[in-house]
Formats: sequence, structure tokens, C-alpha cells
Amino acid sequence: LQVVRRAGGRLFTRSPVTRILLEAWQAVGVQLATGEQVRAARVIHNGGPARLRRLVGEENLPADYRARLRSLKDVPCGALVLGLREPLFPEVPMLLTPGARRVVGIFAPTFFDPTLAPPDRHQVDVFFPLESEDRRAELARVWEDLRTLFPRLDALVEVAVPMLFTGGWTGAESGQYVGQTGEARLSPQTPIEGLYLVGMDLQGSAVAGDIVPLGVRRLLEVLA
Ligand SMILES: Cc1cc2nc3c(=O)[nH]c(=O)nc-3n(C[C@H](O)[C@H](O)[C@H](O)COP(=O)(O)OP(=O)(O)OC[C@H]3O[C@@H](n4cnc5c(N)ncnc54)[C@H](O)[C@@H]3O)c2cc1C
Repeated sequence: LQVVRRAGGRLFTRSPVTRILLEAWQAVGVQLATGEQVRAARVIHNGGPARLRRLVGEENLPADYRARLRSLKDVPCGALVLGLREPLFPEVPMLLTPGARRVVGIFAPTFFDPTLAPPDRHQVDVFFPLESEDRRAELARVWEDLRTLFPRLDALVEVAVPMLFTGGWTGAESGQYVGQTGEARLSPQTPIEGLYLVGMDLQGSAVAGDIVPLGVRRLLEVLA
């Protein structure tokens, strides 16, 4: 934030953008929910492809790009956040679980930053795709997987909070499917002059949030 301020930038928090402003097919700024318009030489969108379509207006996007954005498959997915008395896997920050029926990966944020949990407590985020509308059944399968993977699980869990994402989380809008990974993801450049993208949907091959800095680096290369 200091870097932005030192460079003469302004920060707007709790200020949803309602429109990306275009003039002569060029992005010239954004409109905030307050009605205020913020002019800028470049607009960098971090809100995912579905919001991009809404904020720019579908009618303002070239047909092939509109079709490209629409073709991206979302991934209805969920996370089960667990508060634990002991780490589930103390030696690594992340566990991929290809043999499990529903759980695909488990991340341990407190591996790197123990202050995210109270003293002597630990957090893991368990990720899984949602394969039906029956959320109770989906969660039951996740618990089955976890109990198979960690037979002592029930003795360790103090808190369990499920979070279900069906398009609301940016990272869920263009899932890492076959045909939708690596270079097949979105370019930081859009067909609209002055409008660029960053975030989870950009080109790059990585797991979860690791893909975000790769996209930022690509954008910096484009802007250099
Ligand atoms: C529960 C959970 C646990 C996770 N754990 C891990 C982990 O352990 N390790 C890991 O690497 N990744 C993890 N991830 C994934 C990681 O959070 C995402 O990959 C990453 O946040 C995606 O970054 P992004 O910048 O693309 O999108 P986001 O972080 O979603 O940022 C988009 C931002 O745009 C803002 N926005 C949206 N619309 C507007 C608007 N109209 N106007 C203004 N602002 C707007 C949103 O408020 C949001 O701040 C986790 C995700 C979840 C949900």
C-alpha cells in the first residue's frame, strides 16, 4: 500500500466497481457503486471472467472473446476448514489426495503462519469438487475420505466450517480442467485497449493461489 501511495496512487476500499468505463473501445477508468468515476490510463481487472463480462458489458466485447469467456467451465467446489488440536500432517504444508473419493487436496495455512490459529491449535483447508446438489451427501463423502486418510481425525477436530462455492469465488470461475490449464488459460491482455487481467484465471501452471503471481509477472512483461 505504501508503494501505491508513494507513487501518487489512491486506494478505495469497500468500493465495489459497477462498471469499467470505455471510450472509443478503450478502457479509461471505472465507476464505483457510489457513482464516482475514477479515470485511469490502464484498468487491471482482478474479478474473474464472469464479472469481466458484466462490468464491461457483453455488447462491448468482440464476439470471439465473449465466446471465449463464456466457454470457460466453472468448478462448483467446496472447502471444509478444520480447527485441530494437532497438525494432520506435520512435515509438509500441503497434501494432494488423488486416491480419495472426493477430497482432492488439503492445505495447512498454519504450517507457514502459526499465528493464524490460537496457540497450540492448527488449521487445514480441505478442498473438494461438488458433484451433486445434495450438499449434505457431498459433505458426508468428504468426512468419509478424511476418516479413511486420518483414522484419528475425530479426536483432533475442534471446529469444522464448510464453505461451498458455486461461482462466487473468483478462482472457481475457470477451473483447472483438462483443456483449461497452463497456456489455455486467459492472457493478461484483452482485446480492449488499456484493459488487462490478473488473478487466478490467467495463464500459468500451478496449484491454487500459486498461479496468481505468475499472472502478475506475465502482465508486467506485457506492460514493460
Ligand atoms: C477457503 C479457501 C482457502 C484457500 N486456501 C489456499 C491455500 O492454502 N493456498 C493457496 O495457494 N490458495 C488457497 N486458496 C485459493 C486462493 O485464495 C485463490 O487462488 C486466490 O485468492 C485467487 O486470487 P485472485 O486474485 O484471482 O482472486 P480473489 O482473491 O478472489 O480476489 C478478487 C478480489 O476482487 C474483489 N472484487 C470482486 N468484484 C469486485 C468489484 N465489482 N469491485 C471491486 N472489487 C471486486 C473481491 O472482493 C476480491 O478481493 C484458498 C481459497 C479459499 C476460498
